[in-house]
Amino acid sequence: MFKKILIANRGEIALRIQRACRELGIKTVVVYSEADRDAKYVKLADESVCIGPPPSAASYLNMPAIISAAEVTDAEAIHPGYGFLSENADFAERVERSGFTFIGPRPESIRIMGDKVSAKQAMIKAGVPCVPGSEGELPDDPREITRVARAIGYPVIIKAAGGGGGRGMRVVHTEAALLNAVATTKAEAQNAFGNAAVYMEKFLTDPRHIEIQVLADEHGNAVWLGERDCSMQRRHQKILEEAPAPGIARRLVERIGARCADACRKLGYRGAGTFEFLYENGEFYFIEMNTRVQVEHPVTELTTGVDIVVQQIRVAAGEVLTLKQRAIQCNGHAIECRVNAEDPVRFTPSPGRITTWHVPGGPGVRVDSHVYSGYFVPPNYDSMIAKIIVHGATREQALARMRTALSEMVVDGISTNIALHRELLVDARFIEGGTNIHYLEEYMAARQA
Ligand code: ADP
Repeated sequence: MFKKILIANRGEIALRIQRACRELGIKTVVVYSEADRDAKYVKLADESVCIGPPPSAASYLNMPAIISAAEVTDAEAIHPGYGFLSENADFAERVERSGFTFIGPRPESIRIMGDKVSAKQAMIKAGVPCVPGSEGELPDDPREITRVARAIGYPVIIKAAGGGGGRGMRVVHTEAALLNAVATTKAEAQNAFGNAAVYMEKFLTDPRHIEIQVLADEHGNAVWLGERDCSMQRRHQKILEEAPAPGIARRLVERIGARCADACRKLGYRGAGTFEFLYENGEFYFIEMNTRVQVEHPVTELTTGVDIVVQQIRVAAGEVLTLKQRAIQCNGHAIECRVNAEDPVRFTPSPGRITTWHVPGGPGVRVDSHVYSGYFVPPNYDSMIAKIIVHGATREQALARMRTALSEMVVDGISTNIALHRELLVDARFIEGGTNIHYLEEYMAARQA
């Protein structure tokens, strides 16, 4: 096992990784930007290294600074968390070439999955069902583009091969709008991801977002840890997740889960990962794979009892996965609400000083957050400041516990989206379960009117 790990991230996930390291008796090095100098998790780490000024490009995305920090502190491995450099194959390669272990998949796997076109091709080969669409990248020939769209049938969605974080996507309803949409998406993709390649998919009108958590070691073992329903989204950004997915037959989930674990074995995948699917009319359609730990991993931890971050570290150290598929059971129900520092109606970011921070507790309640009273939310990063996760024997109990948890939570000094979560938790359609990916935006629009 490693003696010392460098955590190349910030916020709640930096703290989460630090906790896993502590449990394993591993020393931690936290890197931080000047904006995070006073964060408590930085002080809690065994060692900390400032890697640059507040902008991410100069700090959390600064590969040479992170690698030198690992060198000067004698860390053996680097955990990238999520976001930032976590899905950057070049970073993973540089880490390994500098003699450190990257806590994640091999660079080749990250590269294949990082390009959504090659990811889909790999999945089709591995027997994972995908959304019907263009075979690979869209060509330049306008007649060919029009032909592909007609063959798929409108509406279609144009997606950037290098896209992520809900950006680089455009829905097209009519042929008249097609070529313009392709050109705009290509230009945006080139600007945002440095890769103008786009592809086309059937736009599913009533899907749910269901994903499968996997864990694999480098000895050919892979398991899946149940599913998560992440359909509650705004602008393709998840805000509330749950496990299991309400109302989906177990045999359907088991079939797709087994396919995912099988795909990991076929692809020689190592580490934690998530297969994301759209689910419509009883069918699963792969959209992308995330080759890292996800924000919503705790709902799976609460239902399966498996510590995903600890497992990531163990398999990165070369250990054999001791978890056996038949021993993995999903117990009860878990829900996660992402608390963002933002206006609950207009969604504009609300950075600043938190004057009161009071978190909920009690049976089945877990709060993952790096925040405290007096903490200053910097304006430079993602607005998520906490995750409230609850577990109950049934979905009903989990819902009740989440309502109580949200009612106990007090945050003063900045605005948060807690009010929105409180509303959603008493919404009849959400309580019924199984709302689709458009539900939240429709709900917001209705609320505005
Ligand atoms: P990103 O990497 O940016 O998260 P994804 O491919 O995972 O992109 O898609 C994000 C979200 O966009 C999905 O959860 C879903 O809401 C929507 N989406 C993507 N592809 C489709 C599709 N073919 N039909 C309908 N919605 C889609």
